[in-house]
Amino acid sequence: MKNSDLRAIPSVDAILRTPEGQRLSAQFGHDLAVSALRDVLSTIRETTKAGEEMPPAAQIISKADHLANSWISPSLLPVINATGIILHTNLGRAPLSAETIAAMDAVSGAYNNLEFDLGSGKRGKRSVHAEDLLKRLLDVESAFVVNNNAAATMLILSALARAKKVIIPHSQLVEIGGGFRVPDVMRQSGAKLAAIGTTNRIHLKDYENALEEGAALVMNAHHSNFKIIGFTTEPPQSEIAGLAHSYACPYVYDQGSGALLDTMPFGLPHEPTIQEALAGGVDLVCFSGDKLLGGPQAGIIVGRADLMAKIKKHPFARAVRADKTCLAGISATLTHYLKGEAVEKIPIWRMIARSEEDIRAQAFDWASQLGFCQVRAGFSMVGGGSLPEEQLPTHLISVSVEKPDQVMRSLRELAVPLIARIEDGKILFDPRTILPEQESVFLRQVQHVFSS
Ligand SMILES: *Cc1c(COP(=O)(O)O)cnc(C)c1O
Repeated sequence: MKNSDLRAIPSVDAILRTPEGQRLSAQFGHDLAVSALRDVLSTIRETTKAGEEMPPAAQIISKADHLANSWISPSLLPVINATGIILHTNLGRAPLSAETIAAMDAVSGAYNNLEFDLGSGKRGKRSVHAEDLLKRLLDVESAFVVNNNAAATMLILSALARAKKVIIPHSQLVEIGGGFRVPDVMRQSGAKLAAIGTTNRIHLKDYENALEEGAALVMNAHHSNFKIIGFTTEPPQSEIAGLAHSYACPYVYDQGSGALLDTMPFGLPHEPTIQEALAGGVDLVCFSGDKLLGGPQAGIIVGRADLMAKIKKHPFARAVRADKTCLAGISATLTHYLKGEAVEKIPIWRMIARSEEDIRAQAFDWASQLGFCQVRAGFSMVGGGSLPEEQLPTHLISVSVEKPDQVMRSLRELAVPLIARIEDGKILFDPRTILPEQESVFLRQVQHVFSS
């Protein structure tokens, strides 16, 4: 290395004075442009010392451009879900309806009456916004929306059972996923766990024996992500409710999925609905906003007004309150149910309701446009901690490749990352979970990856 080589490396200031440097600064702002140039020049100093030739000026600029771009590109991106798992927790759960997005958009860019009563001109309560819709839809006394269902469960237990006993069957002390374990949540809330029954069998008598000793709550949690089959029994909700009430003990149900529609007409097994739980005499039901409800992330509590009053007053309620976009989005999604248009308007219900023939026709159409794939029968899944392992017949596009893992990586590196499935060394795409507005990008990107 000659000293003259090092001296030939331009300074940041010198580069910024050139037209290209000025363009860089205009694009990213002065400070970011300086940081990027400093990083690039310091690397060049090292490589030049090590004997490499200094790159031309244009390359310095393009490296700095690349680097600055990598700093400001968002890490949270839209992706194409071709896995066929409708509620994919890792892929953001439920995509939203157009009306829901519009409602969330409308309140984010402007001031709004989040906590302002337009009638009286005085301070209002944020909780009213979705509450009236939930009351009308579910015929409940009261409703409350929080950040997510984990928070809803925690809040209910903290407000109603702190330092008191909560009766729950052994079989329901489950881990929902992502570290959410019912027993841990109960302990965190300060409630004392009284687990009853055995893993497979629980009788009304088990509840009765525990209630005899006194308890603040009877709680049930839906086995949303696993099944107990074989020699099992569980009393019906209405009997548990009747018994709990005879001991003046409230009965709470963590339903989880937020199913408001019966899943059976779509060829799926029965998923317990919110309405059934309420009809069975459950005092409070809580569920997620972004599972089978098909809305934005939220936790929704519905039921008895006297219990809800304690919940709304608890200090923890403030810590887990829903924001304006969530309330606007949940309200818009609930409106679809009220209008009886949920299956047509809510993306996840459209996907669940989509016929196998329709998907088959689309798969064959795409395969013929692409030219290098086969179509074969397979299954989609509801996923997302609801309807465990339940499958919906579908048709998949399949591509045989030599190195499937490598191809999967290329698919993930696309401008709109494409998440697919591998089975028997083949790449599989399920049309069911590809949104209609993503169709052309999907086809263009697949063509691009497999032609190169
Ligand atoms: C999914 C689920 C939760 C957690 O809900 P989040 O909205 O993800 O916080 C809690 N309980 C049950 C039964 C669930 O299915």
